Amino acid sequence: MSKKITIVGAGLVGSLLSIYLAKRGYHVNVFERRPDMRKAKTMAGKSINLALSDRGWKGLEGVGIADEIRKIAIPMYGRAIHHKDGSTAYQPYGKDNQAIYSVSRAEINMRLMDLAEQQPNVEIHFSERCTTIERNKLNAHFENAESKKTSVVQSDLLFGADGAFAASRLNMQLTSDLFEYNQHYIEAGYKELIIPAGENGSFLLEKNALHIWPRGSFMMIALPNMDGNFTCTLFLPFEGEKSFANLKTPEQIKAFFETEFADAIPLMPTYIDDFIKNPTSSLVTVKCFPWTFDNKIGLIGDAAHAIVPFYGQGMNCGFEDCVVLNDLIEKHDSASNEVKNFDTVWAKILSEYKTLRKPDADAIADLAIMNFIEMRDKTADPKFLLQKKIEAGFSKKYPDKWIPLYSMVTYSPDIRYSKAFNEGQRQESIMQKVMAIPEIEKKWDTEEVENEILKYL
Ligand SMILES: Cc1cc2nc3c(=O)[nH]c(=O)nc-3n(C[C@H](O)[C@H](O)[C@H](O)COP(=O)(O)OP(=O)(O)OC[C@H]3O[C@@H](n4cnc5c(N)ncnc54)[C@H](O)[C@@H]3O)c2cc1C
Repeated sequence: MSKKITIVGAGLVGSLLSIYLAKRGYHVNVFERRPDMRKAKTMAGKSINLALSDRGWKGLEGVGIADEIRKIAIPMYGRAIHHKDGSTAYQPYGKDNQAIYSVSRAEINMRLMDLAEQQPNVEIHFSERCTTIERNKLNAHFENAESKKTSVVQSDLLFGADGAFAASRLNMQLTSDLFEYNQHYIEAGYKELIIPAGENGSFLLEKNALHIWPRGSFMMIALPNMDGNFTCTLFLPFEGEKSFANLKTPEQIKAFFETEFADAIPLMPTYIDDFIKNPTSSLVTVKCFPWTFDNKIGLIGDAAHAIVPFYGQGMNCGFEDCVVLNDLIEKHDSASNEVKNFDTVWAKILSEYKTLRKPDADAIADLAIMNFIEMRDKTADPKFLLQKKIEAGFSKKYPDKWIPLYSMVTYSPDIRYSKAFNEGQRQESIMQKVMAIPEIEKKWDTEEVENEILKYL
């Protein structure tokens, strides 16, 4: 097959997509703005990690790389909550051995690039920044970061996988009539900090948990890395009493940590320097539509749907995009003997892709915002914890009647995000009634409560 596909962006999703397309026989050229991170020394010492869960695993399994990634993934079986008074509590994420996995963003990206380049029909071009796309000619324009040389690449199909602020999308935004675009920044930003490994690479906190310091309007989390350290992320409003705006001097930072995260200070010897040195970044939700143009250009991953990180689903959702697209290729361009017209086939694939995925991307975007409130605020609220305990107990007894929302999103790749969202809303309205039962704290595990739930189902 001589048809050429261009992908803009060799991030997590662009790299995975290139492998799926190559395995389908397409010739794929990927253009990445940054230099090759496998050669660049800039990543050294940086261990930013992500939570990988079942939807993401499914995407990796589809190209045969899941086992390799498992070797560099640390299971986190639950949340370890660090209260302000120094006490801790543990909340399992699911049943039995269900876990989400901490993986290094750079490691997983590099391994995907390796696998992509092992395909005879994939080439990745580094330091090539897409400047614009001429829609009508399907010409993508690039500028080389080192030589500043510009080039134009013509292809038969193009995917924009260049992240939340995609250059590939911008031209569509400007030239497409009826193109819907909405970007929303939440009031909080984030800063990455570090808990270094102890002696001989030992973990100074429980290794197999996602650690949360919930503090109402803000929080800190920590995820483990293979070398024994933890990447901490402080999510904090930009403005207001407790905010980045009020943490400018070492004294202010010290006082803030002493009040809010006293138990973490002994584990974070460089937190003041790190706080000053590391950037403060913003968090955005991007919703747009359509994700495809002229049946020749498609958006995927964050370029189509950037979401805030509080459900740990951005990458997982992007990997699921690849699975959905691959299924549609199977459906419309499978290896039957019938000669298929590339343009007709891809018109069908892209059309179904955007209609299928858009409600799911919107659902996980909204769930991610809702989970911010749950993580920073409710994980320390006894009433909320009781509600979760009742749900978990009921779900254990009636697994076919009740799958908790978190489990639907995280461990049930066969349940669409949009279905999980709707089901979650229904469950929440039932639980509101249950939690209103007088003295629920005393009778939460009684038959009366169980029957009340059954009544509404
Ligand atoms: C703080 C934080 C924590 C997160 N935690 C999680 C988590 O725990 N679990 C999870 O599933 N998701 C998480 N996410 C979301 C996840 O990072 C994204 O959803 C994921 O990276 C999307 O992958 P992508 O390939 O679509 O985009 P990106 O990862 O942004 O990759 C885009 C690529 O395109 C390149 N590029 C950009 N512009 C151009 C251009 N003009 N020309 C050429 N190349 C270009 C970039 O250099 C990059 O390599 C988190 C996000 C943040 C911000």
